[in-house]
Amino acid sequence: MSKIIADILKKENPDKNDIIRLLKSDFKERQLLFAKAAAVKEKYVGLKTYYRGLIEFSNICTKNCYYCGIRAGNHKVQRYDISDEQLLNAVKFAYENNYGSVVFQSGERADKQFIDRIEQLLIKAKQITRGKIGITISLGEQSKETYRRWFNAGAHRYLLRIESSNEALYYKIHPKNKLHDFKTRLKALSDLQALGYQTGTGVMIGLPFQNYEHLADDLLFFKSFDVDMVGMGPYIEHSDTPLYQYRNQLLPLEERFMLTLKMIAILRIMMKDINIAAATALQAIDPVGREKALKAGANIMMPNITPTVNRENYQLYENKPCIDEGADECTNCLEARIAISGDNIGYGEWGDAPHFAKRKAKLQKV
Ligand code: SAH
Ligand code: SF4
Repeated sequence: MSKIIADILKKENPDKNDIIRLLKSDFKERQLLFAKAAAVKEKYVGLKTYYRGLIEFSNICTKNCYYCGIRAGNHKVQRYDISDEQLLNAVKFAYENNYGSVVFQSGERADKQFIDRIEQLLIKAKQITRGKIGITISLGEQSKETYRRWFNAGAHRYLLRIESSNEALYYKIHPKNKLHDFKTRLKALSDLQALGYQTGTGVMIGLPFQNYEHLADDLLFFKSFDVDMVGMGPYIEHSDTPLYQYRNQLLPLEERFMLTLKMIAILRIMMKDINIAAATALQAIDPVGREKALKAGANIMMPNITPTVNRENYQLYENKPCIDEGADECTNCLEARIAISGDNIGYGEWGDAPHFAKRKAKLQKV
């Protein structure tokens, strides 16, 4: 049977059936898949992990995604919004520790006060790091004008997961209303690309109602959308969310974990020069889950540098790791673990995906 996998792995562009077969690979077969992904990673992006210091600065959210622990409808969560000073201190921490980049992430808001504040924070974050820190933002769906303002203020990468590229499945995990519109999310991704952001998307893996076909289509979607970055992680149920009622239909956590590693490996083979994140949710299942993802083709790590006091309230899913560890403590243990995975750390570098430079060059030629 390994021969079938070996043959698929020789193909430049695996088709949907090939991808499904790879997703179903057994213990022996998946060793071939991971080895191939590791070789592609080494050749196209190098054995290097780049840091993005993750600042989850607020859990205030206007949306009601059925899977997420900080959805507006969950009244058990204590809401927080860190001060500008705390956020900028976290940026300074990342800069002084040579992280190269930070990510600002929060619940979704589109009010004027929020938009203005982010713009100011981006400008200040650049100022206090002498223009050196790379900034990714992950602040949900916004108007093109807002995206433009934030881009001009200093953000150059954006993460907006499509969550599922299958419209029917999308509406099983979101309310069907104006605030959770599949087409709006697609348009947001197109807007980001058109504005010149390095654009990242991704999905959750192991969702209720999700099957192998959906996952294969997700990978093909990333490819056809020509994204620069992907972050995919296992879905982890949260007891205060509507999807929790389907917990008995889910794959065991270890299988969701393995499926995520396979998705990462297949994607690395399909999109050789993009950035792929080792999602934090992997670590909630396996303490060295993210390092395993690095071995399977991922090259981005997002150490959590949110001030510790707020971490317990940013629980998108349960058992979130490191909620009581300080940022530097996390950094030390991380460095040792990444060394075991065989990667070097791209200290002080932005670590932009080579894919982005090529996409930009192509756009300029047209
Ligand atoms: N509000 C922004 C960013 C914060 S949420 C947004 O939604 O884009 C960041 C990501 O967390 C989401 O894209 C989703 O994929 C992930 N997430 C939310 N709930 C989760 C859960 N229960 N298990 C795993 N990932 C989850
Ligand atoms: Fe809000 Fe993002 Fe959670 Fe949806 S996934 S409820 S937008 S924080």
